[in-house]
Amino acid sequence: MVEIQCPHCDEDIELEDDVFGLFDCPHCDEEFIWEDDEDVSNEHTTNPSVISGVKIGIGIVGIVLLLSMIFFVWFLLYIRASLDGGFG
Ligand SMILES: [Zn+2]
Repeated sequence: MVEIQCPHCDEDIELEDDVFGLFDCPHCDEEFIWEDDEDVSNEHTTNPSVISGVKIGIGIVGIVLLLSMIFFVWFLLYIRASLDGGFG
C-alpha cells in the first residue's frame, strides 16, 4: 500500500502500490489523478525480448572471440614451429 494526500482536502488516502489513474477521494468525493512515477525503472527495466536479444548478442560475440583466440593460438604455434624449424 502507498499513502498519499488528496490534493483537494489533504486527507490521507491509501492506494495499492501498482495503481495509477483517476480516483475519487473517499473523503471529499473529488476526483484526482495519481501517477506512480516512482520505482518505475525497478519493475519495468527490461522486457524478455530485449534480454533474449542481448543473450544472443553475447553468444555471438563469445563465439567470435573464441574462434579468434583459437586462430590466434594456432597462428602463434604455426609461427613458432616455422621459426624452430628455421633456426633450430
Ligand atoms: Zn479529498
